Amino acid sequence: MEWRLDLDRVDEQFLLELLNSTPVVDGVALDEFADPDTGCAWLEARGWDATPEEWRAVRDARDDLQAVIRGTAEPATLTRWLAQLSWKPTLDTSGVHWECSEPPGRTAAAAAVLAWSALLASSPGRLRPCGNPECRLFLIDHSKPNSARWCSMAVCGNRMKARRHYDRVRQSR
Ligand SMILES: [Zn+2]
Repeated sequence: MEWRLDLDRVDEQFLLELLNSTPVVDGVALDEFADPDTGCAWLEARGWDATPEEWRAVRDARDDLQAVIRGTAEPATLTRWLAQLSWKPTLDTSGVHWECSEPPGRTAAAAAVLAWSALLASSPGRLRPCGNPECRLFLIDHSKPNSARWCSMAVCGNRMKARRHYDRVRQSR
């Protein structure tokens, strides 16, 4: 059995939500995929197959993607998540269309890697870790100057600004 991967669902929103499933809340590192129940609920809420195989694969693919985006792993480490994809051409009057299929069990994982790749092509350099070293979230910068540094100005932006101010005040004493 093959699972048709709907490429319209391979989007940056899904990718960002997946990357940001390991937040730090009140100083504690959380993982929304820590156990199969919460992991499967996450998948189900987004319309993916909520099976233990999918949960395990998407969690591991997320860990790989986070490492690649943080620069601690090579992009080639993601190859395994696409190794079983197959592409079939269909033709109509508007030309060639590609249908993507994946054996069940790794569809969300494959979609996450495809979404990362699509984002690299469409918006190079726009996906990055938050500039707050204590934050584990990622951001996709859509601003014109591409100068956003924080996952959220309200949270990390203000916190880092306050810290820099505190450091300046302390140094000037
Ligand atoms: Zn942040």
